[in-house]
Formats: sequence, C-alpha cells, structure tokens
Amino acid sequence: MNPNKIEKGEEMIEKKMHINGKWVESLSGETRGILNPFDASEIATVSEGNREDTKLAIKAARDAFNGEWGKVARNERKALLVKLAQLIKRDKEELSRLESLNTGKTLEESRWDMDDIHNIFNYYANLLDKEHSEVVDSPVDNSSSVLEREPVGVCGQISPWNYPLLQASWKMAPALAAGCSIVMKPSEITPLTTIKVTELAEEAGYPKGVVNLVLGPGHSVGAELAENHDVDLISFTGGSFTGRKIMTAASGNIKKVALELGGKNPHIIFEDANFDVAVDYALNGVFFHAGQICSAGARLMVHASLYDSFIEALKVRMEKIKVGNGFDEKTEMGPVISKEHLEKVESYVEIAKKEGAKLVLGGERPREEGLKKGYFFMPTLFVDCTNDMRIVQEEVFGPIITVEKFETEEEVIQRANDTVYGLSAGFWTEDPERIKRVSRALRFGTVWVNDFNTYFTEAPWGGYKQSGIGRELGQLGLEEYQEVKHIFQNNKPEPFNWFGK
Ligand code: NAD
Repeated sequence: MNPNKIEKGEEMIEKKMHINGKWVESLSGETRGILNPFDASEIATVSEGNREDTKLAIKAARDAFNGEWGKVARNERKALLVKLAQLIKRDKEELSRLESLNTGKTLEESRWDMDDIHNIFNYYANLLDKEHSEVVDSPVDNSSSVLEREPVGVCGQISPWNYPLLQASWKMAPALAAGCSIVMKPSEITPLTTIKVTELAEEAGYPKGVVNLVLGPGHSVGAELAENHDVDLISFTGGSFTGRKIMTAASGNIKKVALELGGKNPHIIFEDANFDVAVDYALNGVFFHAGQICSAGARLMVHASLYDSFIEALKVRMEKIKVGNGFDEKTEMGPVISKEHLEKVESYVEIAKKEGAKLVLGGERPREEGLKKGYFFMPTLFVDCTNDMRIVQEEVFGPIITVEKFETEEEVIQRANDTVYGLSAGFWTEDPERIKRVSRALRFGTVWVNDFNTYFTEAPWGGYKQSGIGRELGQLGLEEYQEVKHIFQNNKPEPFNWFGK
C-alpha cells in the first residue's frame, strides 16, 4: 500500500457534490485536482461548483427545512447524530488517512482529530436530552411566559483547510442537533474528508436536502452562501480578511453570522514558570501541524531572567524536530498546505529580518532531497522581537516562533493585549495570585494557565476582537443554531378600553 496515494476502495468517495440527496457533478462540468502537500502529487479530482450549483443546494436545504425536517422530533435528531458518530468511529482509519493525505499532517494528529470529531457528534446528541422549555417569571397577572428554542433554518457553513473535518464538524453537529438544514462548503483544497463524512451522513439516514455539500472556491460558492437571501445563518471559519467580506455579504438579508477567524496568540513565560514543562509546551504550542493552527502560540514572551536559557532550550529541541512524511511514524512535523502558503511563510522571514528580528534557527526550506517536491519549511526561531514588528502582530500560520523579552507583569499584559486579535493566550507561573490577576487581565476567548492549546468539546471556543463573533463547541455552540421564541399567554383576557371607547 502506498500511503501517499488514494487506494482503490477510497476512489469510491467520489469527488462529487451532494445536493438534495444525490451525488452530482457541477453544472459546468469543471473539476479540480486535489494535491498532497507532501510531494505535490494529485490524489483526487473533485467537481468544481459555482454559484448555480450553490443555489440548487440552498433550495434543497430550504425545501427540506420547510418540509418534514423542520418539524422533526428531538429523539430522531439525536438518533441520527449517534448513528453518524458510530460511523465516524467505524471509519476512523480511512478518515485519518485521507486527512493526512490531503493536509500533510501526521497520521497520529489526524487520528486525534477523528476521535474529537466522534466525540463532538455524540456530545451534541446527548445535549439534546437536556433541552426543555424555559418558564419565565411573568410580571403580568394571570399569564404564562415560556421560551422555546427552535432551529434557525438553512445554514451555510464554510470551513478552512487547516483542520478540514474538525472545523466542519464543529458546525455540522450543532446545526443538525438544532434541527437546521445545511449547505457545507469545505476549503476547495481540502475537501476529501468532508466528502467522506457527507457519505456517512447519507448512510446514517439523514433525509434528502438536510445535509448538502458544495465544492468550489470561496469567491463563487462561498460568496453565494454568504449573500443568498434564502440562507438564514452563515457560519465561517477562516481568515479575518475573508471574515470581513462574509459580514458585508451577509448584511443583504441580515442573516445571522458566526465567525471563527485568525489569531496571534501570546504565550507568556514568567520568571517562576516550571521551566522544562514550559519549554515543552512552547514547542507544542507552535509546531503541531507545522504551525497552521489558529491558536498557535507563535508569539512567545519570556521574562528577562529566563530569556537566554529559554531560547537555548528551545533551540536544542527545535534542532531535533523530525520534518517529513506524515505517514512515517518518526515524523513530528509535516509540510505546510500549499505552494502559495509556503511562499507566504517564507516571505515573513524576509520581513522579520528587515524589521530587525534575529534569526537563530531555520528560516528556510529543508535541504533533504526527499522533501524537495513538497511544501516543507524548517522550524524557525526569531529572537529579539518587539511588539511593533509585523512578524509579531500578523498571523503567519507556519512553523515560526518569535520571542520577545519582558521585565514586569504589567508590561507583558499591556503588550500581550496590544493586538487586533483575541483568540487565545497562555501563561506559566506558580503564583496563585498572579494566576488570578493575569487570567482576568488578558483579553482573549481562551486563556490557558500552565498549559497551551488544550480545548475540548464541552467548553466554548471563539475569539474576542477581530478573532471572531460567537462561539463554537459547548452549549453555546448549539445556541448559535437556535432561535429563541418567547410565547406569552394571557390566561384571563379582559378589554383594555383605551381606543374609541
Ligand atoms: P480563508 O479565509 O482563505 O478560507 C476559508 C474558507 O473561506 C475557504 O473555504 C474558502 O474557500 C472560503 N472563502 C474564501 N473567500 C471567500 C469569500 N469571499 N466568501 C465566502 N467564502 C470564502 O482561510 P484559510 O486560509 O482556508 O484558513 C486559515 C485561516 O483560518 C487562518 O486565518 C486561521 O486562523 C483561521 N482559522 C480559525 C479558526 C478558529 O477557530 N478561530 C480555526 C481554524 C482556522
């Protein structure tokens, strides 16, 4: 078996879109080649949709929602989610292999993703057991007041390439739990696992039109989802630049908007940090999936008393990071996603050097012959960085750490908060009072204390400031897909006698 090629059986997961219960080619007949970032080889061909295909998918979702699906009982929605979770577990290996083929990440990382995805569908299935009408204490005599949660309706869902199926499942599972119908659009360069999971949704028994999948670029398929007046909610994960376009496009029919955007996440090492563990997490915070994580702790801020020793410890371990094929068990870090992205990451090395940051390690593609065809970049360490540098403020989304020095707690909090982003931050200290102070002072959606990059299904995820709007995961993740209806009943109506008496 060649791990870098799609196997025969997997060719079945064909490369088509799923609209109104049918696997269809795009109306234009256009296709796109899907590449393996390990060696730039083509691993699949998929249909390339456009606005017209997307309109059909939206209509199918609308018909399903206005039909039986919009009224489907909670226990039925729960049973379908449980079934889908079981199928994801059954096909975990195939899904993991596909994710690694399409993204280059290590197979082990893809397996963790699939475990998370399985949990997410189960979690939202179980959350439905807790759903109930809520009684409001009405101040009006002889009345009752009740809140009901109802599905928002037709949801457009747009996912990015870094965690293709994980990000898609953060949207699919709560939307389907709430009773919405969906039109999912994965990133055009990483659609394979989302295609597979749509097949599994069909196998689980979702009625036609409830789970639709459109494939194609953002400027047509994605833009149609954001603009179309028959879409009630658009949920988007991706870059802040695209997020702004989505918000503007969504204003046409005031559709609900949920945005999970970029981040530049400070990771602070105080003088009383547990040094060895903090070094380990500083590496974990950045180099998983070659730094292509929205919450990557790419911006290290180290107390002056530890600055030199921390950098030395990082360097020693970074020199040993094994870069290579995600299917090789020894590999610790795979390639970045594409040629364009590799060039973007590379360009930041020049930007950082010009700004005066000092390159300690990496900053180049690997010299190893076997990696030359792929989109690899070596783990890179810049020190003597400052707040005003682009390499510190902008999201590079690659295997690059920048290190800044600080002297005081006040100074580091002020500098850490001095960013347009607000996705996540972390810090290391043994001082309980400092833990309270700093975790409150940091303006980010998630703050890790003596940890970094831990997230789980039960807790909400999302950003302050330009890192987004709304939350995914947890109870709040379900509420994004629900409307709240207030039903007020007058139990003893009597005339008010104001008009035309
Ligand atoms: P991107 O914004 O380029 O694309 C994301 C998706 O949007 C893709 O499916 C793309 O086709 C689509 N798109 C592009 N232009 C569009 C348009 N005009 N209208 C509608 N859709 C459009 O992002 P990316 O490069 O795929 O992903 C990387 C980004 O995602 C990073 O900034 C990262 O921080 C962010 N991200 C955030 C989170 C989070 O939880 N906050 C998680 C993962 C990734």
